[in-house]
Amino acid sequence: MPERSMPHDASSWACPHGQDARRGCEACYEESTAPGPGLSFWEVVAWFTTDRPIPIRTLQDVHHHGRHFALDQPSAPLVYLLTGEAHARDGVQAVASVIGFLLQNRHVIADFTVTETRATHRSPATPAKPKTTRQTDTWLHERANP
Ligand SMILES: [Zn+2]
Repeated sequence: MPERSMPHDASSWACPHGQDARRGCEACYEESTAPGPGLSFWEVVAWFTTDRPIPIRTLQDVHHHGRHFALDQPSAPLVYLLTGEAHARDGVQAVASVIGFLLQNRHVIADFTVTETRATHRSPATPAKPKTTRQTDTWLHERANP
């Protein structure tokens, strides 16, 4: 059977830096922090296991991370769910980017094994509406009732 027909062979998981996306890539992580030419927006979910429990404080700190990363423990012990956003060329790089976040935190997440990933392509995020809508309403109201 030709290797390229296998959906999960190693080469199909290689990020642009030659890393296995399921092990994460810090270079991809760095690239994914901002929109760039040829990059599109992805939401990534990755399930992984660890040898040691991740401290609660670490789980909480991730939520304060500025890039909409979240680390949750859905059910079983030592099984975690990482969600994050990435600007990437494709889904493989998006996965490498988000898992690269774990590499950045290897001082607390020393060893992990990614068991399943899902990358969802999103259209570019529309800028959040400024919270001045009420002022606009007021302005329209004043104009309508001089
Ligand atoms: Zn990479």
